[in-house]
This record gives sequence, C-alpha cells and structure tokens, in this order.
Amino acid sequence: MSFSFVSHLVCPKCSKTYDHNKLHQLCTCGSPLLVDYDLERLKEEDVIIDQARNDLWRYHKLLPVTSEEHVVSLGEGMTPLLPMPELGAELGIESLFMKDEGLIPTGSFKARGAAVGVSKAKELGVAQLAMPTNGNAGAAWSLYCARAGIKPTIVMPVDAPVITRKETAISGAELYLVNGLISDAGKMVANLVKEEGLYDASTLKEPYRIEGKKTMGYEILEQSGSETPDVILYPTGGGVGLIGIYKALKEFKELGLFKGNQFPRLVAVQAEGCAPIVKAWEEHKNESEFWEDSKTAAFGINVPKAIGDFLVLEAIYETEGCAVAVSEEEIQQALGHAAELEGTFICPEGAATFAAAKKLRDKGWIQPGERVLCLNTGQGIKYPDTVEVDPLVLQPGEDLQRNKENVK
Ligand SMILES: *Cc1c(COP(=O)(O)O)cnc(C)c1O
Ligand SMILES: [Zn+2]
Repeated sequence: MSFSFVSHLVCPKCSKTYDHNKLHQLCTCGSPLLVDYDLERLKEEDVIIDQARNDLWRYHKLLPVTSEEHVVSLGEGMTPLLPMPELGAELGIESLFMKDEGLIPTGSFKARGAAVGVSKAKELGVAQLAMPTNGNAGAAWSLYCARAGIKPTIVMPVDAPVITRKETAISGAELYLVNGLISDAGKMVANLVKEEGLYDASTLKEPYRIEGKKTMGYEILEQSGSETPDVILYPTGGGVGLIGIYKALKEFKELGLFKGNQFPRLVAVQAEGCAPIVKAWEEHKNESEFWEDSKTAAFGINVPKAIGDFLVLEAIYETEGCAVAVSEEEIQQALGHAAELEGTFICPEGAATFAAAKKLRDKGWIQPGERVLCLNTGQGIKYPDTVEVDPLVLQPGEDLQRNKENVK
C-alpha cells in the first residue's frame, strides 16, 4: 500500500517533467514546478482520505512525502470552519464563514507549507536550506526545521512583526534582518544559494510548500460537505495558498470528491499599498508588474512581485473570481468588527478578506444568499502592535468611573 501517490514534477509553462526523488528548484525555463499524482490509480483505492488522522496528513496519499517516517509534524491542519453570523449580518452576507488558520502550530497557516516542505526536504536528504520571508514563513520553517534536524538560514525585513523574529531565532536558525523589503531579502538569499549551494526554500522555488497549503482547499471541501462555498476570499501575497486551493479543487474533482456544481469563485485580496495582482487583473493581464514602495500593516501580503503571479491570475480567471484591494482603514475596521461581533481576534491579512467581502457585496458581485468563505491566515496575537488600544490607568483604590468612553 502506497503512503503517497506522487508521480512526478511538472512545469506549468513548458510541460517539462522532473523526478520527485531528486532535488529540484525552478524549471530550466524559470517557472515554478508543480507536483503531479497518479490520480487514476488513487481513484481505485477504497480509502483516499485517512479519516483516522485529524491533521493535514489525513491527505497523505495526495502529498509528496513517500515514506511516513519522514513526516515532520506539530499537529497542523483541520482548523475550524466557523460560522460568522453577526459579522455576516453587518456585511449583508447571510451565509458567512471563516476558516480559522490562527489555530495552527506557529500561529499562521505557513505551518502547512513548512510541515510538507520540511518533510520532503528531509526525505530528500537536505541538511541546510535558506529562505527570504516576511516573518511568518521564516518562523514556521525554522521551527519545523528544528524538529527535522535541518539547519535554516532566514533573511527577513527589519520591519517584520517582532514575534516572528523571536520564533525564528529561538529555534536556532541563522537569522539576518535586512533594512528593506522581502524582494531585497530574496536577492540576498539567491546570492547565498548560488555561492554555497544551499537548498533554496523561497516561495515556489521549491515545489512542496504549495502542497502543504493546498490542504486548506481539501479541508474546506470536506468540512462544507454538499454546501460548497460560492466564493472563497484569500489574502494574497505570493499567492501560494490561492494556487494551492485551486489545485486542490481540481484534484478532488478528478477523484470524484468535489460535491458542488461549479468551483467556488476565488478572490485574491490585497492591500491598496501593495496590489500588483489586482492591477494585473483589472488590466486583464496574465502577469503582474513589480509594485514600487509597497507598504501595508498586513505584512504577510506585502509582496511587490510574486514569482507565481501567472498561476494566481489563472486560478482567478478559470474560476470567474476577481481581485480586490482594500485600504488600511478598512482592514483595521474589519479586524475590530471580527473581534467585537464574533470574538475572533484575527490577523490583519485575514481582516482584509472581510473588508473585501463587504466591498464585493456592496457592488453586487457577491449576490444575496451566496455562501462566502474568508480565510483568516493567522493569529491576531502575532501582531501586538497593529492594534492600538488606550485603556484608562487608575491608582489602587480609585473609582472605576464606569463609562464606556473610557475604553477606546
Ligand atoms: C504569507 C501570508 C499570507 C500570504 O500567503 P501567500 O500564500 O504567500 O499569498 C497571508 N497571510 C499571512 C498571515 C501570511 O503569513
Ligand atoms: Zn518549464
């Protein structure tokens, strides 16, 4: 019995194929590589999903790790799909749900990519790797690498959330801060990789991180049963999660596990201060341009140019989705509403998806009665400085002067 039905790596641009038992980065044509499975053979199996496992390894037959002993896990996956009725009422969306990726090891959904990426790196005998990050990926990969016995070198912008710097450093990773953007960190990692021959674990420069992230798509389909969402909103930086969800939809469909009539419309949500995918979509382009001087408090989506942009745009066009930018004020407002109305302290990237849902509902792009699913990609508590509150400080024995005005 096979633990995995992985068959090979394939280039989505030039169709060249590669052996998954060897280390590969990009295709010779420069495109990211994707993982293919022997779905015809898998279809014949009695059991496709390993229901006994309550983490993302329940999909091990659709993951690239061939031997169970190489699995490096901290219990990631099977995060809750929460109804958001109060926030939904406020946004005019009757049927609003949130997949809460805050409830995952390392506090962001980057744990999914790290779990599968690090496990496959271990299987292929990688001893050292390097990557640029906006914070969460570096933290997740460092912690999973520590568990796997792999030595990571991480480069992140000095402005990245401080907690991610601490998670990275405490796990023993070699950490460098750069006074610049993730694109600057990327260039420094590329130089290091070239000089020292380390494994390059940059977004989509290794083919396996996306395989971890695609499990969000499987879970959404499994958890919603016959009530497939009509719209899925995803906070898009490198776009790996969105590409992964689209890949998951197609794989489940081919396996006969997709229960809906049509695919959910996939929406790429970006911040107005960094919206290259939105601009490309508005101009009906298949690739994005570098976004100069990008800036947003939603750090995970501050990616001025994504290497997989053409795949993100393809997923949007193929599902009749769209791309939307939201302002910093709209993000803050949505973050507050989610906490106040639903008791969910979400990350700014997740908040952006609710702000976008509101815009799309107001415009009529989301229609009455449609089922809408927003992805909250991380914990609010990882961004202590994004939310500003100003409670009154009293001396012991002083009157509380109970008055709502005192608590801003
Ligand atoms: C990395 C990140 C994103 C963007 O993920 P991509 O799949 O690279 O687009 C969104 N939210 C958070 C919290 C992140 O850390
Ligand atoms: Zn190619």
